[in-house]
Amino acid sequence: MATSVSTVSLKLLIEKKTQKVIFAEAEKPFVDFLFHLMSLPLGTIIKLVSQSSMVGSLGNLYGSIKNISQTYLQPNLNKDVLLNPKVATHYSFNAPLLLAAGDPSEAKKFYFCTNCLNYGGGRRSISDDPKAICPHCKSKISGEASYVAPVKADSTSMDESGGGFVKGVVTYMVTDDLKVMPHSTISTITVLNDFNIKDFGSVEVKDVRLGVDEGLKVLKAALQTDSVLTTVFLGK
Ligand SMILES: [Zn+2]
Repeated sequence: MATSVSTVSLKLLIEKKTQKVIFAEAEKPFVDFLFHLMSLPLGTIIKLVSQSSMVGSLGNLYGSIKNISQTYLQPNLNKDVLLNPKVATHYSFNAPLLLAAGDPSEAKKFYFCTNCLNYGGGRRSISDDPKAICPHCKSKISGEASYVAPVKADSTSMDESGGGFVKGVVTYMVTDDLKVMPHSTISTITVLNDFNIKDFGSVEVKDVRLGVDEGLKVLKAALQTDSVLTTVFLGK
């Protein structure tokens, strides 16, 4: 059971001869972390893995936005919307491995029209941009309100039941190319067959821990290879 918020433990089953990870036995925190990757905006991913190490062309697109002069952009556009997009805070607290690596997920702010609020009348407009104009009184919607996330069972530790994406009652199997499924005898046999492993002497088990560095490496490797766990944990 992983109780720490900063590292997650994994058991790797490795084929001795080729030094390739066959699969990892993982608990809820690692699967939550992997699923959480899907909720990251592209801009955040490119920022996290660094523009230069992106394969394909998205890194160039990111760089172009970074470099283009404000002269060419709409006057009310803040480049951060694209380069440093806000991550939905609703789920992210339980998958903290990337948050600690500078995920820009800060508390979301909302703004309301103070003018309409002062004069009552039941007109309520809110915006996420303090430069927005109130449709009722034409003043700026600039009164600041703070976003409050709904209360979850245990928002500070990755416990077995509360928060995140998957349930903590079972263990999961994560293959080298990040196929995730509940761990069972049948899934194990299927994967061992895929690797053509008939002799248990040809495999070994290794315990590893995943912290912020490894979390970033997993994200980076997932964009570049189908041997993610081997790349990150066996340095291939
Ligand atoms: Zn107003």
